Amino acid sequence: MSDLVSTLKSKFDNATVLTDPEDMAKYVTDWHGKLTGKALAVVRPTNTEDVAAVIKLAFEHGTPIVPQSGNTGVAGGSVPDDSGAAIVLSLERMNKVRDISPAAMTMTVEAGCVLEFLHETVEAQDLFFPLNFGAKGSCMIGGNLATNAGGQNVVRYGNTRELCLGIEAVLPDGRIVNLLSGLRKDNTGYDLRDLFIGSEGTLGVITAATMKLFHLPKARATTFAVVPDITRGLELLNRAQAETGGAVEAFELIPRVFLEIIQQHAPQHNIPFAEIPELCVLIEIAATSDAEAVADIEGIVPIAAKLEKILASGFDDGLVLDAVIASSEAQRQEMWDMREGALEAVTAAGVWIGFDISLPLDQVHAFVDEMTRRAEAIVPGLRMCHMGHLGDGNLHYTIFSPEDNTDVSMANADAIRAAVYDAIVDFGGSFSAEHGIGTTKLYAMTNYKDPVALAVMQQIKATLDPKGIMNPGKLLPQ
Ligand SMILES: Cc1cc2nc3c(=O)[nH]c(=O)nc-3n(C[C@H](O)[C@H](O)[C@H](O)COP(=O)(O)OP(=O)(O)OC[C@H]3O[C@@H](n4cnc5c(N)ncnc54)[C@H](O)[C@@H]3O)c2cc1C
Repeated sequence: MSDLVSTLKSKFDNATVLTDPEDMAKYVTDWHGKLTGKALAVVRPTNTEDVAAVIKLAFEHGTPIVPQSGNTGVAGGSVPDDSGAAIVLSLERMNKVRDISPAAMTMTVEAGCVLEFLHETVEAQDLFFPLNFGAKGSCMIGGNLATNAGGQNVVRYGNTRELCLGIEAVLPDGRIVNLLSGLRKDNTGYDLRDLFIGSEGTLGVITAATMKLFHLPKARATTFAVVPDITRGLELLNRAQAETGGAVEAFELIPRVFLEIIQQHAPQHNIPFAEIPELCVLIEIAATSDAEAVADIEGIVPIAAKLEKILASGFDDGLVLDAVIASSEAQRQEMWDMREGALEAVTAAGVWIGFDISLPLDQVHAFVDEMTRRAEAIVPGLRMCHMGHLGDGNLHYTIFSPEDNTDVSMANADAIRAAVYDAIVDFGGSFSAEHGIGTTKLYAMTNYKDPVALAVMQQIKATLDPKGIMNPGKLLPQ
């Protein structure tokens, strides 16, 4: 047993320090089950002071730390490498809500609070925390902050960074930095909060955060609409925003390839059209006021009537070809279950290469067309699945082998990856929209990030973490 582990065991109980390989198994394997590493120990503190004590000891021993919250990350950042030299620092037992202020519309919560638990907790007080995506039942706010997670509601509320007012973090030498302010204005020098958001555990451990809350929508109107192409889909988005005063909560792009994959690999989901359409958007608008949300004497809910009107004008102008409106909460949920089951369905679909990219909205259509042309020149018949959060220009762009299931050989996979990254540069996009860099995008970080920006990041890392113990080998090329 290493000196550090003996010291940790002498300071903390057996529930805090795990060393049995069976107990550690779930902490050293990623969500996909593809990456499995080894750890000296998994340490699960229950308060910030204990997190600081663990990190101080690791700093003294020069032992690497892998911070982990819900371990749903899909970029390889949350698990250790196979050297067995690191400890995993799990925040899962730091799961208290410290404060909810309906007056200030904020909550201060610990890093290990599960996202869905936060939804339920604030909804019980008629408040709304809008960060939302498929992993909500397992991912935790600390991980959401560390990855600057996005999800389906970014189009209206922004990503995790925009939802965060303050954080508390432990630095790589064990000092606690308390920036837990609910202030909406605070110009007192460099914004250190923003440094930790999206840093993927490489600069310190986030232990708590103050997050913005919103009014709970009283009614939602949701539709699957078939659109002729992406450009006209975006026209429909802008029309919906104008008609509703910016009440579009989600605007998701769903192409035919994805629906075919759902049909084959997740048949429990109900595709709401008799024939699979070429391209749809899943649109949700929401209302918080009674005037918009409460049914009139004829039983018509104004927000639903508004959606119908938007779709009707879309039909007239050739922006919409067909549409199904959710007529009940159960039907709405069915639509969302299918959308949120995307990663599972795609994972089950076999041979694929996935990207999490973003593009300027007015370039998405041109990128998709051009990329299809470039990919066809590399491997004819590849199936391109450009689904994603279209409202904010984020595509979970996935390339599947041709229908005959010909393998995408590694040589071709490298060529395809390079073609996608090059096209992203050509169209002014980013190779990492919301999942982070972890280990899986280090190649892109090395080759496609602005070299000066990368050098500045390395300098910041060296200043805050001179021994390089915080999540080494993640986010920054070494
Ligand atoms: C089905 C599914 C759907 C998903 N959909 C989306 C989506 O729509 N949008 C999206 O953005 N992501 C999505 N993800 C990815 C993932 O859920 C998010 O990245 C999420 O924010 C990770 O949170 P986590 O608590 O699981 O973090 P983890 O996986 O535990 O960690 C992620 C990274 O953050 C670091 N970290 C974790 N906690 C801390 C902390 N307290 N302090 C410092 N560093 C820390 C880790 O070291 C690691 O680098 C999805 C994942 C799945 C499995």
